[in-house]
Amino acid sequence: MTAVVVGSGPNGLAAAIALLQGGVEVEVREAADWVGGGLHTEELTLPGFRHDVCATVQPLAAGSPFFRTLDLGVEWVHPEAPAAHPLDDGTAVLLEREIVETADGLGRDGAAYRRLVEPLVAGYDELAPVVLGRMPPPPRRALRALDSTGAGAVARAVRAALGDARSVAESLFATERARAWFAGHCAHAMLPLERRPSAGFGLTLAVLGHAVGWPTSRGGASTLAEALAERVRALGGSIVTGSPVDELPQDGRLVLADVVPRDLVRLARGRLPERYERRLLRYRHGPGAFKLDWALDGPIPWTAEDCRRAGTVHLGGTLDEISHSEWGAWSGRIVERPFVLVVQQTMFDDTRAPEGKHVAWAYCHVPNGSGVDMTERIEAQVERFAPGFRELVLARSTLGPRDLEARNRNLVGGDLNGGAMDLGQLFARPTLRVSPWSTPLEGVYLCSASTPPGGGVHGMCGYWAAQAAVESLR
Ligand SMILES: Cc1cc2nc3c(=O)[nH]c(=O)nc-3n(C[C@H](O)[C@H](O)[C@H](O)COP(=O)(O)OP(=O)(O)OC[C@H]3O[C@@H](n4cnc5c(N)ncnc54)[C@H](O)[C@@H]3O)c2cc1C
Repeated sequence: MTAVVVGSGPNGLAAAIALLQGGVEVEVREAADWVGGGLHTEELTLPGFRHDVCATVQPLAAGSPFFRTLDLGVEWVHPEAPAAHPLDDGTAVLLEREIVETADGLGRDGAAYRRLVEPLVAGYDELAPVVLGRMPPPPRRALRALDSTGAGAVARAVRAALGDARSVAESLFATERARAWFAGHCAHAMLPLERRPSAGFGLTLAVLGHAVGWPTSRGGASTLAEALAERVRALGGSIVTGSPVDELPQDGRLVLADVVPRDLVRLARGRLPERYERRLLRYRHGPGAFKLDWALDGPIPWTAEDCRRAGTVHLGGTLDEISHSEWGAWSGRIVERPFVLVVQQTMFDDTRAPEGKHVAWAYCHVPNGSGVDMTERIEAQVERFAPGFRELVLARSTLGPRDLEARNRNLVGGDLNGGAMDLGQLFARPTLRVSPWSTPLEGVYLCSASTPPGGGVHGMCGYWAAQAAVESLR
């Protein structure tokens, strides 16, 4: 059997590898002139400054049950601490690699934090395949995960993970510092902090910080894309770039489409049953991202020295401020003080910029498709916690939601998760089906982040889609 994989994002490449491992011949077709989709590094500003255009921090890739089996040879660069959250009093709260150190930084909220995450970190190897796996999980696997973490701990964690960030932060933590710090992690969900399951994102990222770390790949995200592409070729597959697919092949080959639901409708050209097509067109996209990359003359001069030890820095002050920002992006409003995620790769990887110089990567959430320039607002947030930052900027690249979508059709309106990740679309992704990767068209599967387990670089959407396709051949 032969398959065409449409799109070479991490999910397309994972699908290709899993198909090849299952004995299927594979051709990958990619619209862009490079492989990797969201994994792409480019000199966006000045020669010698290598910027990750989309994904850069890779806890999900480093912890991916499938990627871990591949031994890809990517060199993970671990910052001393995964993340920092500076506050207006000049201090910062850190997610450290060690739970105990993190708990120390949370002061009197440390004990509650430890109670919640310790069993999850200890049972990570059993939990990850369940959380990133098929739903419902195979009973034996779920039982093993329960055994390794303890039933009470799992019940507590599930309750927290399915909750909203504000309720969990306010019930778990007494201090504003801890609440703000947790909110920063939860805001990765691109959901209002009062919407479920925003707490689950924060909890997952914290657990990953301890169990895996939040590494970047040395040299840039492209190195991970190239390693995956190399594995496709080594297994006998082929990859054609600069080759957009405009219609699903109808020559009996399997098709695994690393595309968003509305694009599957476009490519199917009326062949999908009307009811399924309607459901795909009702699929909802979340807020967009407004992305900045800087070439810098020196490291970011954080007021809180501790921020220098972190790979990622969350700029949003308090839980209330972050909540206001995320509601704005969700409901179509531009806010003056957006929640900003900053990554300072060159503090730990000097291959990405000329000697003594630095790159930094940042984005904030904005309404889907927004055309508003957020450069000033983002830089004001950095300046607030790192006065003098602007004087270091040698050059900047700006990518609004529409620019991102123009580069990659999957980034609809700048939505980087392949669709809103609220409770409704977490499992019923893109729609409620026993196997969400399959479609009513025989031999055609969706394998993008618009299928479970959703956004991020882990390749598990592609892996599960390929498993479904291979099983259908037996
Ligand atoms: C600004 C930004 C920052 C991010 N940061 C992180 C991060 O730090 N860590 C993290 O884990 N995730 C991050 N993400 C999310 C991550 O990049 C995505 O969730 C992930 O790349 C999704 O993988 P995918 O394979 O489903 O799709 P994509 O990576 O989007 O790849 C889809 C590919 O398919 C191609 N394609 C689409 N249609 C066609 C067609 N018809 N014919 C041929 N080719 C086609 C596209 O050109 C693209 O190359 C970020 C995303 C953005 C935009």
